[in-house]
Amino acid sequence: MARVFSGIQPSGELHIGNYLGAVRRWVELQRQHECFFCIVDYHAVTQDYDVGLLASRTLDMATSLLAAGIDPDRAVLFVQSHVPEHTELAWLFTTVTPVGELERMTQFKEKAQRQESVLAGLMNYPVLQAADVLLYKADTVPVGEDQVQHIELTREIARKWNARYGEGFFPEPQALVSDAKRIMGLDGQAKMSKSIGNTIGILEEPETIWQRLRPAMTDPARVTRNDPGTPEICNIYHLHRHFSPPATIEDVAHKCRTAGWGCLDCKRVLADNIARVFEPIRQRAAELKAHPERVRDILAAGAERARVVAQDTMRLVRERMGLFGARERARP
Ligand code: ATP
Ligand code: MG
Repeated sequence: MARVFSGIQPSGELHIGNYLGAVRRWVELQRQHECFFCIVDYHAVTQDYDVGLLASRTLDMATSLLAAGIDPDRAVLFVQSHVPEHTELAWLFTTVTPVGELERMTQFKEKAQRQESVLAGLMNYPVLQAADVLLYKADTVPVGEDQVQHIELTREIARKWNARYGEGFFPEPQALVSDAKRIMGLDGQAKMSKSIGNTIGILEEPETIWQRLRPAMTDPARVTRNDPGTPEICNIYHLHRHFSPPATIEDVAHKCRTAGWGCLDCKRVLADNIARVFEPIRQRAAELKAHPERVRDILAAGAERARVVAQDTMRLVRERMGLFGARERARP
């Protein structure tokens, strides 16, 4: 049995990129493995965010994850800031992490462009992520492609810490990426991201999905209805491959190549299929939204279970790093 850890930021709504790239896999993994799934609010505050919305977005993310199939009887679902050991371990990990490695991270470079003055929290984001994973000594991390580089750094941090403080203490975790590892945004320019707003949320109403898809980027060669296109370079076609039945996917490709229909026709079918796939999840979310106290209780129980493991790891980490009184605290 593997020990699985993965996280998601409450930086917006759970979108189809998050779902296909990560969360769908979480739901499968929880059936056979010991899973920790974390809503990482300390990560979310590294970018511009609305203070008044963070708490409700955290609750909404938990609701969406439960509706998507995370089962609190199988997996531990919790909020990062409820387990302060995450930040304690992150601090200790900064002492074995080369700044050069942090500066070359793709996500850092991309997100730093959007900050007026680049803040240390954004640079240290992957260190906190390493702490998230290693606190639970997880060996498997299901993520989208954009996070693979961070998991490689997590392995390096584990290696460096182990070399100095105790061989074999932390495992070197592996990223697990799905066949939908990088879903492009509706702008067709960047990966779908909560913080960019080029998303379709999994709980969106059918009409909203349609409204979001209508202006979405397609193959630029299809200037008019009669211009043929190349489905392989169109994001809408790639989305069909995740949401439409095989016969429809074939039909979509053919009609695109032969200008048999317009992009709006193609998007209409996609909108209907996305809405259909998420219909049961939307229903479960509506039930949960009527009982937010249930979600709060699940998160409280999850934090309690996570804390047991986190505190155990931290006691041993403090001891190995020679902190005053740690030996006594580790073995009362
Ligand atoms: P933000 O823009 O705030 O970074 P995000 O949409 O990138 O938000 P995260 O919370 O950073 O979402 O990531 C949660 C999980 O979803 C990670 O495993 C990440 O790799 C995965 N993921 C995010 N975007 C995509 C995408 N477009 N395609 C596939 N997987 C994705
Ligand atoms: Mg992200």
